[in-house]
Amino acid sequence: MSTLRENKLQGKIAIITGGASGIGEATARLFANHGAAVVVIADIQDELGRQVAESIGTHRCTYVRCDVSDEDQVKTMVEQTVHKYGNLDIMFSNAGILSSPDQPVLDLDFSAFDRLFDVNVRGMALCVKHAARVMVERRVKGSIVCTASVAANHGMEIRTDYCMSKHAVLGLVRSASVQLGVHGIRVNCVSPNALATPLTCRAAGKGVEELEKAYEKFARLKGIALKAGHVADAVLYLACGESEFVTGHDLVVDGGFIPP
Ligand code: NAD
Repeated sequence: MSTLRENKLQGKIAIITGGASGIGEATARLFANHGAAVVVIADIQDELGRQVAESIGTHRCTYVRCDVSDEDQVKTMVEQTVHKYGNLDIMFSNAGILSSPDQPVLDLDFSAFDRLFDVNVRGMALCVKHAARVMVERRVKGSIVCTASVAANHGMEIRTDYCMSKHAVLGLVRSASVQLGVHGIRVNCVSPNALATPLTCRAAGKGVEELEKAYEKFARLKGIALKAGHVADAVLYLACGESEFVTGHDLVVDGGFIPP
């Protein structure tokens, strides 16, 4: 991740869902380093979200509780951001959860399936919808970035519902980019390979180093582990003016994915 203080997002107002942890947290830090006027972290981990916002600096980062699966909460969070800070330039819709239990097709548990779809699909669509609505109303040529996954382009041995949910994110991004292009709004996604974050460390019951070692087999690129900062760099590219003619794109950050 670039550590230089640059200004690719000078004065921009950004929302990052799932910004209290992992990829979202790394992106919040990078956006602030690049001169974003305000980064709103929208998450359900209150203590952690506040800590991250404070460590970035409360003059440029703030925490708001928002469960992305609840339309009223998403609508209110987006509208309050615009009301308080005057605009919305960037929505990074990133909050997501993993399957639990393992969810092979033959044993799909549909209450777990529904919970996962509520966050990973409905939540993603709600954030795109409400961000796009305020951008259209205010004639902002904004950038919306979603977090998909390598699982959006490949089948998986387990986690059927997770894999399906990430395929749905691609459909959302492609359709939204087609519909919103007329307003000058760009919609793209990033698709990371497996990386060690609190989400995956918890699920695997492993520490960062151990998990990075276990994930080596999924990438052709050797001698480097995928970090949240690498994904944040890709999100920054899609969020800033450097990608001003890029929309409907799935930017894989996978070191050359080797399917399991
Ligand atoms: P993480 O758990 O570190 O961060 C996810 C954040 O989302 C957490 O802070 C969590 O509290 C928040 N969140 C969960 N449910 C929410 C809800 N209902 N409303 C608001 N916030 C909610 O995980 P991460 O690995 O940084 O994952 C971020 C995104 O990246 C997810 O969409 C995930 O599917 C995707 N992804 C992760 C990996 C990986 O290997 N870690 C790979 C590909 C894609």
